[in-house]
Amino acid sequence: MPQLKHWQTLMMESSLTQAELLNQLIDEAEAVVIGIGAGMSAATGFTYVGKRFTDAFPDFITKYRLFDMLQASLFDFEDEQEYWAFQSRFSLLNFFDQPAGQAYIDLRFKMTDKNYHVITTNADNAFYASEFDMDKVFRIQGEYGLWQCSDHCHQQTYQDEALIRQMAREQSDMKIPANLVPHCPKCGVVLEVNKRNEEKGMVEDGHFHEQKERYEQFLKENKDKKVLFLEIGVGHTTPQFIKHPFQQMTEENEKALYVTMNQKDYFIPHAIRPQTIRIDEDIAEVIHTISK
Ligand SMILES: [Zn+2]
Repeated sequence: MPQLKHWQTLMMESSLTQAELLNQLIDEAEAVVIGIGAGMSAATGFTYVGKRFTDAFPDFITKYRLFDMLQASLFDFEDEQEYWAFQSRFSLLNFFDQPAGQAYIDLRFKMTDKNYHVITTNADNAFYASEFDMDKVFRIQGEYGLWQCSDHCHQQTYQDEALIRQMAREQSDMKIPANLVPHCPKCGVVLEVNKRNEEKGMVEDGHFHEQKERYEQFLKENKDKKVLFLEIGVGHTTPQFIKHPFQQMTEENEKALYVTMNQKDYFIPHAIRPQTIRIDEDIAEVIHTISK
């Protein structure tokens, strides 16, 4: 094994571009924990605004004056038939029919043979579509392709892609036929998309806990190593899942380094500033460069 350089030596090599620096940091790391937020999917073209949104939901935009797909996905629709008219189209676009994204492919390529694990707040299907090893990915905020009881009466999720396609096909005037509305097999209330909400949290079943355990195991195994916490496109909507734990774990390990790829300049706690690098260039371009 080659002698590891000190992070600081690399950080002071000011002749390096951001991509060159990142590339070397990944190569020098003994473990890489990658945290992915909405900015990564947006960077690779899965945007929640613009044509991708207006092409898929012109009727909903006209009726409710919706301004982006995130707001739309959280909107309190008129009834269950309208909710599922929206969600069926949304989950085809952002999950079942989601194509591979170049930035994800590039990242996977760069991480080949590396000791890494991913945690993401994205509920889309970008990692699967880009052929990541899903045993290395923890989707902490649920998945658009899964359903849960809207009363959270039991901890089990469901999936029925064929029914989603039927809902999308057979809807009219922004409503699916009443007989296609899915119901909880235990208590009978309507099912909803598997996601977290402020009051009730999220339905977390065996599949979720397996992902969580694999992630926690990775953190434990690599706890005292030279760990690179690489945060890509993570904003400040839910800092408790990636941003704050990454900062905390960096502070607890003097060999760790925290790299945040973001065009916004978020506050960095004083204690970890010497262990922090901010990359503010275009996410997709930087990742593409390091994948070569
Ligand atoms: Zn139920």
